Amino acid sequence: MRITEIFYSLQGEGFLAGVPSVFVRLAGCPLRCQWCDTKYAWDETAGAEYSISETVRAVRQWPCKFVVITGGEPMIKPDLPQLVRELKTAEKHITIETTGITFIQDLACDLMSISPKLSNSTPTDPALAAIHEESRLNTAVMRQLVDNYDYQLKFVVDSQKDLEEVNRILKKIGNVNLEKVMLMPQAVTRDELLAKSPMVAEMCKRTGFAFCQRLQVLLWNNERGT
Ligand code: SF4
Repeated sequence: MRITEIFYSLQGEGFLAGVPSVFVRLAGCPLRCQWCDTKYAWDETAGAEYSISETVRAVRQWPCKFVVITGGEPMIKPDLPQLVRELKTAEKHITIETTGITFIQDLACDLMSISPKLSNSTPTDPALAAIHEESRLNTAVMRQLVDNYDYQLKFVVDSQKDLEEVNRILKKIGNVNLEKVMLMPQAVTRDELLAKSPMVAEMCKRTGFAFCQRLQVLLWNNERGT
């Protein structure tokens, strides 16, 4: 499988933020989010070819239980179930970070970290916007993920008006435990994060949703490999 990078850092986002984790970033994503901070992982031929056993060996070089499989979009990769199985055999705790556009049954995944994309992610370039909108949101798939896995739902918000869209999507998914919903500031730099965080914190206090931090931005200003 094509992998853009494997590195050791802290989980920056979600309910496991701060937990030391090994990241496996798979190549390829059909979306083209305007503010994507991993554009180098869009191309499915990016990075290098790894066998499953090479990947597991690379992960095991760090004495760390937590593994985050991210992208790109890992759920579109045919080899993902086998990778997850092998990492489980190595007794890892596995988080899969997905935008929630594809369902796979029976993955040995401990935490499905779903990040549905709001319309604030749509690129301004019309050609990219068309590609993006084709696969941006699939609430039926999200419902399957929510019903079959332990999960968290992270929404990237850019302004107060995004809240209406968040609520609309949650209603369409249905059966969501609202305690598992997080709002995360849209920010690719530390300055942006610090500027937007107070607004998102107030939105969280009003709604009861959890504030989702972005430690990789706060601590390392989104430097690659963090
Ligand atoms: S889904 Fe994730 S990896 Fe894909 S374009 Fe959007 S932010 Fe980037």
